[in-house]
Amino acid sequence: MVPRPGQPESRIQTHHSSVSTPTWRRMAALPKLLDKSNIKHFLDSFDTVLTDCDGVLWNGDYIIGQANDALNQLRALGKKVFFITNNSTKSRDTYLAKFERLDIIGSKEEIVSSSYVMAQYLKQQNFNKKVYVVGNKGMSDELDNVGIAHMGVEPDPLVGCVFDLKDIKDVVELDPEVGAVAVGFDGTFSFPKILRAASYLNKPGCLFIATNTDERFPIQSSKLIFPGTGCMVRCVETVAMRPPTIMGKPSKMMFSVISEQHQLQPSRTIVIGDNCKTDIVFGKNCGLHTMMVLSGITQMKELEEYAANQDEEKHKRLPDYYLPQLEDLIPLLNDENCK
Ligand SMILES: [Mg+2]
Repeated sequence: MVPRPGQPESRIQTHHSSVSTPTWRRMAALPKLLDKSNIKHFLDSFDTVLTDCDGVLWNGDYIIGQANDALNQLRALGKKVFFITNNSTKSRDTYLAKFERLDIIGSKEEIVSSSYVMAQYLKQQNFNKKVYVVGNKGMSDELDNVGIAHMGVEPDPLVGCVFDLKDIKDVVELDPEVGAVAVGFDGTFSFPKILRAASYLNKPGCLFIATNTDERFPIQSSKLIFPGTGCMVRCVETVAMRPPTIMGKPSKMMFSVISEQHQLQPSRTIVIGDNCKTDIVFGKNCGLHTMMVLSGITQMKELEEYAANQDEEKHKRLPDYYLPQLEDLIPLLNDENCK
């Protein structure tokens, strides 16, 4: 349908023969492919890059194309780089070892994981009790780094015990020092852990934190579906009957921590990601520029569906720009530098 003069292309009127009042359907513009025509405007718009890792820089243990060289070239242009990831299973030291293996330049201060944000959040609250962690070693390492006591990062001792529900109250002891429950990815997630988490959360004042709510792990080349942290968070949230404070994307918490430490301006910052529901919505929530690469979770067909959708909440999933993968930035930067 051709828009009338003065009518925005994104606002298209649709008529239904059985309805006398016209229905207005709001569509959104598709993201722009980054190319020679817009690369200068793109580069001039930001000083700081927040890049996601899984699906942008690497898939599993493999670098995606020359993603590392693309980041190096952005650094050579004077751009600051931070690595932001919802994956709570690795501490920043573990990420550094992975960077070295994949020839990615980066320092510990530039790595911001959901487990690091969790530790910083508790530190900012002057939290001085113990955390019951339904989670992993990445979380316990980050809590150790800020001197916060914790327990729970191991299989629950009651797993495999055969008992009636009515007898559980006689074998489960709750630690009176616990003042927060933190849920992240836990490969030993179990009924006794849910029971303990919900019981602690029933105490007045007990904090409830979730590292992230990702539905699945982005593991490709497998017929298996790998449940993500979101499943475990939903489980505890259901029985606790209260929502957690979420550390990872699309929550704004991650940007609050980085911007406070490094004085970042939202209007001079871009987020690069592969997942429109987490990375791009995070960028929109924080007022950042956004770019998507199609080397991970979200594909172009999905973006086209969101652009055509009437629900304006779905439009938040549309990035400003996109590229097939991060290495496609390299020839554009070379062309621009030659001018
Ligand atoms: Mg990703």
